[in-house]
Amino acid sequence: MKIGVLALQGAFIEHIKILRARDVEAIEVRKPEQLRDLDGLIIPGGESTTFGKLAVEYGLIEPMRALCAAGKPVWGTCAGMIFLAKEIGRAQPLIGVMDVTVKRNAFGRQVDSFEIDLDIPALEPRAPFHAIFIRAPLIASVGKGVEVLAKLDDGTIVAARQGNLLATSFHPELTNDARFHKFFLKNVKSR
Ligand code: GLN
Repeated sequence: MKIGVLALQGAFIEHIKILRARDVEAIEVRKPEQLRDLDGLIIPGGESTTFGKLAVEYGLIEPMRALCAAGKPVWGTCAGMIFLAKEIGRAQPLIGVMDVTVKRNAFGRQVDSFEIDLDIPALEPRAPFHAIFIRAPLIASVGKGVEVLAKLDDGTIVAARQGNLLATSFHPELTNDARFHKFFLKNVKSR
C-alpha cells in the first residue's frame, strides 16, 4: 500500500510520520507523475489558496480529480477539506469533487483555534476523539450520498464521507491518536 501526501505547503510531514509509524509507505507529492501508482492520497491542512495556486502551476488539479474519479480514497484535513469541496462560496482553484458546501475560516477570530473532544461513531474503539481546529472550515451543507461522521454539540458538521472521499475540519495528524488514520487506511485496504 502506497499513500501520497500532497506536500505543496502545510502540515504534510505530520501525516507522513503517522503513516510511516504504521509501516505504511508514504510519499510527498509535488508532481503529477507521483500520483500515478498511489493507493490513496491525503491533502493536509495549510492554506487552501496557496494549495490552489501551486496546484495549478504544477498541473496537479486534473490528475487529482482523476484520482478521485477513479475511486481512490482521498482525505482532506482542514485546508484539504476546502480543496476537495464543490462549493466554498468564493472563487479559488479547487479539486471540487465532494458534494459539500464548505465555509472557510468559519469560527471567527475569537475562537480561531480551539480543541474539543468529539464523539465519532465510525472510529474504533469508540471513545472521544480530541480534535484540534485551527482557523478551521465547517461543512455548511451536504449533498445526497454524503455521510456525516462528526458534529459539534451545536450541530455544526465537522467530518463527512462520500464514497472514497473523506473530509475533516480538524487536524487528526496533530494528535497522538491514530484512529482517524486507521479509519482512512481501512478504506484504502478495502478498495
Ligand atoms: N484557513 C485555512 C484556509 O482557508 C485552513 C486552515 C488550516 O488548514 N488549518 O485554507
